Amino acid sequence: MRRLIIIIAAVFLATVLIPAVLYLRCGKYEKPVPEKEDTISVYIKAEDRVCEMSKSQYLKEVVSAEMPASFEKEALKAQAVAARSYLEARRDAYKVSGTPDVHKGAEICTDSTHCKAWIAESERRSLWGADADKNWEKISQAVDETADEILSYDGEVISAVFHSTSSGKTESSKDVWGGERPYLVSVDSPGDKVSPKFKSSKEISLEEFKKIARENIDGVDFSKELVGETLRSDAGGILTVSVGGVKIKGTKLRSIYGLRSTNVAINIQNDMVSFDVTGYGHGVGMSQYGANYLASEGKSYDEILKTYYTGVEIAKTGM
Ligand SMILES: [Zn+2]
Repeated sequence: MRRLIIIIAAVFLATVLIPAVLYLRCGKYEKPVPEKEDTISVYIKAEDRVCEMSKSQYLKEVVSAEMPASFEKEALKAQAVAARSYLEARRDAYKVSGTPDVHKGAEICTDSTHCKAWIAESERRSLWGADADKNWEKISQAVDETADEILSYDGEVISAVFHSTSSGKTESSKDVWGGERPYLVSVDSPGDKVSPKFKSSKEISLEEFKKIARENIDGVDFSKELVGETLRSDAGGILTVSVGGVKIKGTKLRSIYGLRSTNVAINIQNDMVSFDVTGYGHGVGMSQYGANYLASEGKSYDEILKTYYTGVEIAKTGM
């Protein structure tokens, strides 16, 4: 009798309780159709847990977090292929190096500063409100219609990085991160000039400017100079700039002053410092607003991708 109860309990656990708990913990589980591949493990940073989910569901949630659903369908499709390529490139790299500690064993994470932005479907739907069904359908189509498609260069899946808005010209990966990648070179992106995120500015007091510099840069000395020699990339982003006599990278300037990009003009007048910023994001790879502009001009998603990622081909995963 006791044995029977144990067996019944085990069956209940395996068939009802565990799937129910998984469902509650990980949200809606969709079968990976038509995406060929099964599941991936995702570290959800905000909740500090690893979740197994279908790859297509993960990609739909990434696209819905990365791009407004109001964007052109072809731009959303380009975003889906870029996000899938980025995911696969990370998975390939981690097969060799092992996953980073911050992933807690997962293949990808939801920290937009480490991997890519992500939002759970349920949360996204509630933010959309009345348009939820229509928007989710549009994003699902963008992922499903490009199922299994990735970008390859020289037979290898590429790290298809992207950003919101460039300065009218994208940055090369070499200028921003130092690693030369032939498919991540500077290209023209004329549509960015009509992006609502093309220009921004920030103003702080000179005292605040100096305080932030002293807290973040070793050895600054403002008796010599405030801001000195500035070196820029072809696209206009600051490569290096001298602040209080110390040369720092443009990426550091961006991060310590909380600017939208490294493409900055610094003006100091009286006791105020103003930063006039062009573009939004690191500027490398596909510009999302630029992609939407090209789509509105009638370009297809593969033409958009080949505009931003030089010399790539569209391939299928596992081929
Ligand atoms: Zn990550």
